[in-house]
Amino acid sequence: MTTLKALSVRQPWALAICHGKDTENRTRPTRHRGPIAIHAPKAWDDVGRFTLLWIADMIGLTPYQAAERDHRGAVLAVAEIVGCHRHRDSTHPCHADGAPICSPWAARGYWHWQLANVRPLQHPVPARGAAGLWPLPPDVTAAVLAQTENAQSPLPQ
Ligand SMILES: [Zn+2]
Repeated sequence: MTTLKALSVRQPWALAICHGKDTENRTRPTRHRGPIAIHAPKAWDDVGRFTLLWIADMIGLTPYQAAERDHRGAVLAVAEIVGCHRHRDSTHPCHADGAPICSPWAARGYWHWQLANVRPLQHPVPARGAAGLWPLPPDVTAAVLAQTENAQSPLPQ
């Protein structure tokens, strides 16, 4: 039975991943490569108004649109982890003159989990979260894959 690994990402960052955020900043590295489910837990990240506006601008949504898509307690997308490096690694000069160059989403001092091929689900699938990379229950995995196996999965409206 297929079981996807899942990563819980607090809102509003999970929404940002659905709309092109290609780097997840974490304090720990991962060896996992390949598909993961992007899950938004119920708890959210109180980033403050300035950062909320910055995120909305980065992903091309109005703050109102972003608020409308603030799904929590659910799997929002399937993505792939295609790389992981630490920003201090001299072979990956993520920053130059104080500006991020590996991704505009890359944060200093973190491991950069590089995401690609993000496929947002049209209908978020409810699930409880956990820390780290956690196994998505088989029934949730099936509900998620049923949506991503369609050739085109448009962004949630
Ligand atoms: Zn980087």
